[in-house]
Amino acid sequence: MERKLVVGNWKMNGDRVRNSALLDQLVGAMPAAVDCAVCVPFPYLPQVGESLVGSGVALGAQDVSEFPEGAYTGDVSVAMLADWGVRFVIVGHSERRAMHGESDLTVARKAAAALDGGLVPIACFGETLVERESGVTELVLLRQLDALAANLSPEALQGIVLAYEPVWAIGTGRAATAEQVQTVLALVRRWLADHVPAPERVRILYGGSVKPETAGGLFSLPDADGGLIGGASLDAQSFLEICQAAGSAAQGN
Ligand code: PEP
Repeated sequence: MERKLVVGNWKMNGDRVRNSALLDQLVGAMPAAVDCAVCVPFPYLPQVGESLVGSGVALGAQDVSEFPEGAYTGDVSVAMLADWGVRFVIVGHSERRAMHGESDLTVARKAAAALDGGLVPIACFGETLVERESGVTELVLLRQLDALAANLSPEALQGIVLAYEPVWAIGTGRAATAEQVQTVLALVRRWLADHVPAPERVRILYGGSVKPETAGGLFSLPDADGGLIGGASLDAQSFLEICQAAGSAAQGN
């Protein structure tokens, strides 16, 4: 994939004043050579969506219901997100898997609902430290990916964005090494070859403690199509530098 994709995940951070200050610094400064998005908390979708109009930065959400409507108190549907101009939605973030008990099946159903409703799901998958140290990383990742393939047609799966996020690297300041990341991304690319018509066209992101200093190296890996950025996306300068690193990586310098 020629253009990289960099997605900020604001998690449960921000308020109207801080959002506005952050967006003022981002809008107009984002490099044109990179596709960018910010996934923001539900209440701020209207505010952020309005600020991003004409900016080239896409609007994203951090979760979505697998159901279309009805008695699901607290949940938000695909149609509701689309109503606010949302283009991307994160599904299966490890924080939701761990804290809300989301299973591989639930994540796959959310991805299917998003695709069905015209949104692009960013499906997160990754191993815990215990799993890595027990030597079952590949097994765990393939289990998570296979659940997607079992619930999506090859044509639907073609429209997904995958985000490899080792759980031990998220919010810890300890990014995976380039070698660890490329080993997994290559595995995922091979897996894609068995499941979609055009495996090279599915974007695979890396997420986990990406910083401006590490972004260039990670985004230059042969199978890296960009990044999912948590903490560093809350600082305008850091997020801009990470996006610029993605632009440079796409141009091969
Ligand atoms: C994330 O939450 O998706 C993430 C990658 O967080 P961080 O960059 O803070 O590790």
